[in-house]
Formats: sequence, structure tokens, C-alpha cells
Amino acid sequence: MSKTKQQQLDELQVQIERDDPTPELREGATQLVFGDGNIDADIVFIGEAPGKNEDLQGKPFVGASGKFLDEMLEMVGLKRGDIYITNIVKYRPPNNRDPKPEEKKVFLPYLQAQLEIIQPKVVVTLGRHSMNCFLPDLQISKAHGQPKRVKLALKSHSGDVLEVVILPLFHPAAALYNPQQRQTLIDDFAAIPAIVEKIK
Ligand code: URA
Repeated sequence: MSKTKQQQLDELQVQIERDDPTPELREGATQLVFGDGNIDADIVFIGEAPGKNEDLQGKPFVGASGKFLDEMLEMVGLKRGDIYITNIVKYRPPNNRDPKPEEKKVFLPYLQAQLEIIQPKVVVTLGRHSMNCFLPDLQISKAHGQPKRVKLALKSHSGDVLEVVILPLFHPAAALYNPQQRQTLIDDFAAIPAIVEKIK
């Protein structure tokens, strides 16, 4: 019998723990923050890395930016249970510093494997780090709110691709304290249901 999505995700999490791609981050963190939500979702949100609350609770976006994210989800008629959410880097960087390029690079194959298992139609990237994993040449100030169709090379079946629409958004943490970015993020967010509907 083939493995369920949950079994595959559990195995991927164990694999990350076994590979230990960033021993320094792991040593400074409480735990791995793998991802949370609906593994059959059409939409996956991707942030940067866990912060303090996420590190303590083992779930992504449970602090102030998570609360803001929940408000925006509600605005468009969605709940956490309708989406899946994760980060590029799965351990909290010390003092909430930005993830380093080598940390993002080493976690990218795991993120791709996660997407391959979940098979979303839309990937909402939160912030420039997450966007640049998939769209390295774009600037978030220009690209935010504009969906882009991309083909992701799959890890397990060489040659196969996963076609997704990437929607780059500002990071909720940045937008929380910047009224202009906040409104832009809310406006961009409002387009999500139409984007999902269009590609269904
Ligand atoms: N910011 C992120 O990028 N990810 C989290 O999980 C929390 C805050």
C-alpha cells in the first residue's frame, strides 16, 4: 500500500532531524518547526523561519505575525484549517536574525519535498526570503501581489515538475508596523480566493 501524505511528511520530518542540516541553529533552538495545517490544502503559505513563540510551541506563525495572518485569512473567508503553513528554515535563528543564504539553501530541498507531498495549487510566499527561493530575480517591492506560474523540479521523480502559482506577499511582521505596507498586504491578500478559483 502506498504511504499516506501524513506518513510521507512524518518521514520527511524525521529525515531532517537525522540529516541535521544546521547543527548550530538546532543547538540554539527548542525544537524543529516543521509545518502545520491542512495537508490536503490547495494553498501553502511559506514564511522565513520560526520566531520565539514558534520555537516554543513547535508551530509556525503563532506569535504576533500569526495573529495578523489569521485576521487576514478570516477576511477572505479562510481558516488555518483550510491552508498549510511552513517556513523555509525550520529552526529558529538566534535573536530572530534573518536566515543566512546557506541556511536557506540547505533547507530548500526539504521545502520542495514538502510541497511535492502536499501538491498545492498556490504557494503564497511571505516576505522576500521566501519569494526569492522560487523567484530569485524579483524584488518584493515590485512583485508583491502578482501571481506567477512556475514549474518546480521534483526531487523524487527526476524530470517531473510541480506546476504552482506563486503569490509573493509582504511579510506580515514587516507590515504590522508599517501602515502603508500593511494596507498593501491586506489588498494583496484579498486577491487570494480569486486566484485559487481561477486555477481550480
Ligand atoms: N515569521 C516567520 O517567517 N515565520 C514564523 O513562523 C513566524 C514568524
